[in-house]
Amino acid sequence: MPTIKEITTHLESIAPLHYQESYDNAGLITGDPAWEVTNVLCSLDCTEAVVEEAVQRGCNLVVAHHPIVFKGLKRLNGRNYVERTIIKAIKHDVAIYAIHTNLDNVLNKGVSAKIAERLGLENISILAPKPEAANLEVGAGVVGELPNAMEAVDFLQMLKQNMRTGCIRHTRLMGREIKTVAVCGGSGSFLLPTAIARRADAYVTADFKYHEFFDADGHLVIADIGHYESEQFTIDLLHEIISEKFTTFAPLKTGVNTNPVFYF
Ligand SMILES: [Zn+2]
Repeated sequence: MPTIKEITTHLESIAPLHYQESYDNAGLITGDPAWEVTNVLCSLDCTEAVVEEAVQRGCNLVVAHHPIVFKGLKRLNGRNYVERTIIKAIKHDVAIYAIHTNLDNVLNKGVSAKIAERLGLENISILAPKPEAANLEVGAGVVGELPNAMEAVDFLQMLKQNMRTGCIRHTRLMGREIKTVAVCGGSGSFLLPTAIARRADAYVTADFKYHEFFDADGHLVIADIGHYESEQFTIDLLHEIISEKFTTFAPLKTGVNTNPVFYF
């Protein structure tokens, strides 16, 4: 079996750690890089339930998109879910690795590219390329085109179905067809001006606030599909990335739905 270091080196060949945003905490959070991997559990979030699942299913490495620890931990008393998750992982020798904004920021096998694939978008490119990046394949979000223009309501229907979301919050449909679509997994309202500048007809993302919906201002349709919903296929993506390189074991996908948001 490979070591944790061998797995994380492969993950970082796709999403180098230095591509992460300054506020992020991607990388190995618990565990020893020299450990031999028993199996890998892929998840979107690493919660206590996910660590418990890893233990039950014989995995000593959880590869999650969202880092369980963002800020410095001064104590480990189990007072909140972050501390309890870390305590459980350390007690059971479970390594936690987060591959977050560095995976958001790549085109090849990136989080937003996976969404674009689910929507059947073609000619995709990075929505907001990083100016300092040597090539245009690093940056936030993607933009691409539907094979055929769709009526906005048909687009929303397809979006709901392909992204398995029960609810889409969107701005007024303007009677225009949707052809160019901008996408950003997770909280993407900061890219709205870029989506408008790239002449997208729709912008698919999550976590828009009330006043931010006004900023669409007739330029495009904002479709807020929910944070978990937008990124849930990242679990499949992580599974694909690991499976294509390592053939001596079959990584697992979490069976825990970690979405903290419920709809009534
Ligand atoms: Zn996210």
